[in-house]
Amino acid sequence: MSNNENEIEKLLDENLELIQEFFCPSDMTLIYFVTENLDESEHNKIEKHINECDDCKRIVDDLKKASKWFDSKREQMLHNLEQKAISEGLLSWYGFHLPDYLILAYLHGKIPDNKMGDNIRKDIETHLEQCNTCMKKFQGYKTDDRT
Ligand SMILES: [Zn+2]
Ligand SMILES: [Zn+2]
Repeated sequence: MSNNENEIEKLLDENLELIQEFFCPSDMTLIYFVTENLDESEHNKIEKHINECDDCKRIVDDLKKASKWFDSKREQMLHNLEQKAISEGLLSWYGFHLPDYLILAYLHGKIPDNKMGDNIRKDIETHLEQCNTCMKKFQGYKTDDRT
């Protein structure tokens, strides 16, 4: 490496923070941001940038939407989200269908008789009212039971 290159490298190093504030963060950084995998100071820096940069804000908004989709592709993540949704009564918010075991548990009266169970039942009922796909499944299971 020539002296000149060394010099440039050193300058870049020293001004990295400044440079980062001027230029848009990489897509990867934005993904880490959306999935909350940055440390706090880094997170705050990106947040500041996004508030000032429409381009990155748009990317982050899209990533947030996409991350919901990614989550549904990853079984463990889906499971965690489901647990969170169930415990917080947000099942219908997440835009995914009722898992079969919940439909069956509901049909067979296996949802626990407590506050959490009440929330789950309410969410299932709300979802069934709004979702033909799950309603068909539910009715299918019901018919299966009778035969
Ligand atoms: Zn930007
Ligand atoms: Zn559904």
